[in-house]
This record gives sequence, C-alpha cells and structure tokens, in this order.
Amino acid sequence: MKARSILLVLAACAMAGAQAQPGQPAHKTLFVRCGRLLFDTDKPPMSPAAVIITDGKITSLGPNLSPPAGAEQVDFSRYTVLPGLLDAHIHLWTGPRAEHPSPQVAALRAQRAMKYALDSGVAAVRVLGSYDFLDVALRQAIEEGTIAGPHIIPAGHAISIPAGHGDQFTFPETLPLEDYYTPLNGFINSPADAEKAVHLQIKYGARVIKILASGGVGSPLDSPYSEQVSPEELRVIVEQAHMAQIKVAAHAENIRSITEAIEAGVDSIEHGSELTQRAIDLMKQRNTILVPTVFIPYDIVTNGERNHLPDYMLRKARDLYNKHEPSYQMALKAGVTIAAGSDQSYEPGKGTVLDEIATMVHFGATPQQALTAATKTNAMLMGFPDMGTVAEGKEGDLVAVEGDPLSDVTAVKKVRAVVFQGRLVAPER
Ligand SMILES: [Zn+2]
Repeated sequence: MKARSILLVLAACAMAGAQAQPGQPAHKTLFVRCGRLLFDTDKPPMSPAAVIITDGKITSLGPNLSPPAGAEQVDFSRYTVLPGLLDAHIHLWTGPRAEHPSPQVAALRAQRAMKYALDSGVAAVRVLGSYDFLDVALRQAIEEGTIAGPHIIPAGHAISIPAGHGDQFTFPETLPLEDYYTPLNGFINSPADAEKAVHLQIKYGARVIKILASGGVGSPLDSPYSEQVSPEELRVIVEQAHMAQIKVAAHAENIRSITEAIEAGVDSIEHGSELTQRAIDLMKQRNTILVPTVFIPYDIVTNGERNHLPDYMLRKARDLYNKHEPSYQMALKAGVTIAAGSDQSYEPGKGTVLDEIATMVHFGATPQQALTAATKTNAMLMGFPDMGTVAEGKEGDLVAVEGDPLSDVTAVKKVRAVVFQGRLVAPER
C-alpha cells in the first residue's frame, strides 16, 4: 500500500513536469483557485489556496501557486473547497416507491440518480443492496465513460431470509416463487445457502457483501427487533467474503443482531439502533466501523407522513427513532469510528450524504467529525486510498460550497460546483 502511494506520487510528479511529445496526447491540466481549502479535515484549512490537477490526479496544492501555461482555470475564490465526498450506504432510485419498473427502465432512471450524486459532490458510493445487479452495470457504464457518475462499490443483492428485510413480496403463497427465493437473489435458509449467496454476488460483480442481520423499517413483513440470520450463517458469510478480500456490511438494528454481527467479524454495522456499552467496547476492540445513518430515521419521522410513506414504515421508524439517536450519541462519545452513509436512493432533488453530514452534527458531532466521516473514514472503509483528502497524487475530486462548513455545517448543502477526476462536472450555478 505504502509503495503504491509513493509510486502514485512519483507518477503524478512525472506527469506534472512532462511536456506533450508529438504523437502523444497533450496533458489536461486544471487550475483551481480556492477561497478556503479544507484539504484534510484533521488539519486547519489553507486560505487562500490553489490546486493543480493534471490528467485527473492532483499534482500540487499551496497558497502561492500560479496557473501553469495552457491550464484550464476555475475560480472558486468565493467558496470553501472540500475533498470529493463519499457515501458509504446508498440504494438506487429507480422510480416512484411501490412501482416495479422493468430492469431496463430501472437502469435508465438510476443513471439519473448517479448524475445527481455526482452533481451533489459525491465522488464514490457504496450501493448496499439493489436488484438485477443494476449497481454492477452502473459501475461498468461509469468506469468506461458511457454515463456520468461516482465510483461505485456494488453489493449486488443484500443477503436476506424470506420474509426478512430484503423481502418486499406480500403476494399469497399460491403464487409460485421458488425461482425467486434463491441465493442468487440474495435469499438464504441455511449456512450452505449463505455461502452460495456470497459466491454468486461476487461472481456477478459485488465488491462488498451486505447482510441483513435484523429486520428493518422499510420492509412490510418483519420487525427491527427480530434476528434474521443465525450466528453460523453470519460466520460463513464473513469467512467467504474475507477470503475474497471483500468487506461485509451488516444491517443490524437490535442489540442481539448487532452483537452477533460484530462477533462474526463484519467490517461495519449499518444503523446500529440499539447499541450498549458492551457492544461499543466490542466494536472498538474489533475495529468495527459504525455507519449510523442518522438522517433517514429523522427524515421518516419528520417528513414521512407528508411523503405518503406506508403505515408500517412510519410506525416502525417512530418506535426505533427514540433508540436510534441516543445510540449514535453513545457511540460518538465513546470514540467508535463512524462513517457517513445516508441510506438514500439519490432520487433527483431528494436526500444525499450532505443531509447525513448535517444531521450528524444536529445530533452532536462537530462539523469536523462529520466531514471526516464523509471523507477520510469513508475512503478507508470503502477502499479508496486515493480519495478522502486533497493531496499530491490523489484523485482530483473537489466540492465548492458557499460559506464555511466548519462553523456552520449547513454550508455543505450549498454546493456551487464540483470537480471530478480533474473535470468540472457540475458547472457553477
Ligand atoms: Zn439501506
């Protein structure tokens, strides 16, 4: 890892100094003037500052840089500039709730969701559960340049039991569904199924495994207080994923499922609504990361009725809400490593990781802690060593916001421009 980052820096330096030779494509250089540059959330900002990005990688930054000859220039001198943000927990918007579009229509709609993520300043996402390997397809289309979007770490199908949090079907048993309840679709009934489900998600492109260890809010048939997989199934899932160097994210709301997931060795607990001191100690001991998703319960409780969410969701969210926020506060106080995941679907115009950052602060984090979660900690959890800070050799991803998010975190929601891989993707608005 260390050797690799040194190589990256060397490569970036070489690029910065290189002249275009006849027959070789010219280097593309972007010079970004920044009013205030929050290059690393653990350090004081640089003000004023400039960043030079060559062929998508940051080649220098500092207070007194001048634009290299031939560089394209953008002026963010009225703004605070942050590293590209990451969202450790999302799903994919594919149209109105309760509508079941064809995979083709779903893909076309999700393409808009990914553009919306990028325009919101999100440079990488972890899709923790979708259908038909839509997340894998989007990743491919984005990486090859067919469509615009952030880096994607796809999970394929979330692993669930029938009647669990991953099961949305409420049709009668007379409907033949044996072909639906399969490990390929993420459904398991045994440790052997669990092993198969992991192998098949990986085969079709998953780069993280999502396990639904407890029931949840957004599903019609279950309760957040139920456990849904056995300790043996959890163990098999973690073992198989880790053998492939793939991390495991466990949706776990109640304390029994949380404890069993940590003990099985999962890499992150998603939601963690019912933490206890013992669970927190265990997380610190095992380096388990908490993705507390504080915005989604707050949003459902505050706006769910107006947004016509189903009764079961409102009822479960209201009940869980009283535990969820204190649980997050307990973890924050104890110094558990916290990552930022919005659990949003990036429906254009709706919630994003920017709301998660603001809500983390609303419930007790400092702006600096919330910004660290959405940059450096997410980069570490999601496996992007080239992201999370603005530094030489890293990917050229920047977000320009109006105001100073370190003193008023709601400034993060005033995104004015986005640079992704050295290109201005969201023009100043
Ligand atoms: Zn989720």
